[in-house]
Amino acid sequence: MKQGEWHRSCQHKSYRLTCADYEALVAEAGNRCQICGTPGPSTWRRKLVIDHDHEVGQWAVRGLLCPPCNTTLPEGRTPAAEQAAYLAAPWYARFVQPLTLPEPDDGAGVSDGINGLWERSGDLWFPRKGYYREPRTWQWLLHMFGPHRIRIPKEQA
Ligand SMILES: [Zn+2]
Ligand SMILES: [Zn+2]
Repeated sequence: MKQGEWHRSCQHKSYRLTCADYEALVAEAGNRCQICGTPGPSTWRRKLVIDHDHEVGQWAVRGLLCPPCNTTLPEGRTPAAEQAAYLAAPWYARFVQPLTLPEPDDGAGVSDGINGLWERSGDLWFPRKGYYREPRTWQWLLHMFGPHRIRIPKEQA
């Protein structure tokens, strides 16, 4: 598969990876499953699955796996040695620290890093611009966009 085809529909965007982030991830993995080493082109979709830690957040990409390794990753069970090594060094953890951000005061505004603006009113954040329409909690914003993507405008910081 040619490099451009990895971006078929740019599914990586649902994990908040830019095209450049995704290229870097594929290059670093050598386009092989990070647990068993199967090359991406040998998998049934001819590309690896983007694995994320859904407990941490939608943006919390751990790495690239072949479909079997992705589905056999244990949830709550003791992982095998290769799985444990993989889980101990998630990709996101190298550039996202800390994993949370203090909630700005009532009336504050933030950018979500993907063209959205949100404003806090009471306990909720209201979308002022962007794709989302419903008010959400601060925890939801952190989960969906990641503490590394949320920007607090300078005049408030
Ligand atoms: Zn892309
Ligand atoms: Zn594998």
